[in-house]
Amino acid sequence: MISQDKPNILIVDDRPENILVLESILEGLELNIFKATSGNEALGLMLDYDFALVLLDVQMPVMDGFEVAELMRGSERTRNIPIIFVTAINKDQKCMFKGYEIGAVDYLFKPIEPLILKSKVKVFIELQKQKETLKKQTKLLEEKVDELLRLQKLNYKLEHLSTIDVVTGISNRRSFEATIQTEWQRAIRMNTPLSLIMIDIDHFKAFNDHYGHQAGDKCIRKVAEAISSSIQRPGDFAARYGGEEFVVVLPDTEKAGAIIVAERIRNNVESLEVKHACSGVSPYVTISLGVATLFPEKYNSAEELIRRADRALFQAKYLGRNRIEK
Ligand code: GH3
Ligand code: MG
Ligand code: MG
Repeated sequence: MISQDKPNILIVDDRPENILVLESILEGLELNIFKATSGNEALGLMLDYDFALVLLDVQMPVMDGFEVAELMRGSERTRNIPIIFVTAINKDQKCMFKGYEIGAVDYLFKPIEPLILKSKVKVFIELQKQKETLKKQTKLLEEKVDELLRLQKLNYKLEHLSTIDVVTGISNRRSFEATIQTEWQRAIRMNTPLSLIMIDIDHFKAFNDHYGHQAGDKCIRKVAEAISSSIQRPGDFAARYGGEEFVVVLPDTEKAGAIIVAERIRNNVESLEVKHACSGVSPYVTISLGVATLFPEKYNSAEELIRRADRALFQAKYLGRNRIEK
């Protein structure tokens, strides 16, 4: 019976009694032993089974051991099967078989020394096992790398397609960059003002440190919701700008109008009453806001509007937080 767990070994000798001798020596080892009495029969078996090792008699009629090895070398399937040549030729005048994969060939001289045969077979079987393990691991690794590359590509695609911030569900920064440019151009064409509000949660590092990162994320989500529900006109646009920073774009809106919206946002966030024990500004989570308004023209840019809103935000922080500056 052929066992899947044991390695296959093939003994090739034209004389059955020699095969019997080799077989009885190898009996104790965990092997599936196959036998062939000619080169042709051996090659046929090699097509049907995977062998970890071939014990190959050199002196055989019709096709000798070296010819068999030569044919094995010529085929992809058999090229890497290790061979131990069994020969009666004197060690000194031995005819070495060349050209076969280096390290995959050995010699055994008759009369056979059981100990030497056993140890050589063990070495080859062990080597073959390691080779197979390595092959399996390499294949697994290659599969993993392929999968990783596939996911990476998909991720990259999704990231570039996506305009939504996954944490808050509102628009992301990429979407903001596109929107501000579009609105800027539209405002030039329509000759209308464009306002921008930059928003940053107050003492949010302390919030995270005190309540933990998950609570931090939850808070960011709530603030995002309060911001987006505070804007009403169809063209108004809110996005998450960075960690705990947000932006609101208000097309066709003068500074006075933008300040009203900013105050509404500030108030709505404060009214959430999200506890913030380490704020120092309020018992609840609050935000600071910077408002900027420009009449877009060719000589200024959306970047200038962003810079101004950012400066105003800095001012709001500087002057005590939970407030709006312009
Ligand atoms: P300030 O009032 O001056 O704005 O103080 P701050 O602590 O809010 O400002 P700072 O910019 O120093 O820290 C922002 C902190 O926000 C850093 C980080 O702990 C937290 N943060 C940024 N992004 C995220 C996020 O996506 N999730 C969570 N949970 N925390 C974030
Ligand atoms: Mg910040
Ligand atoms: Mg902050």
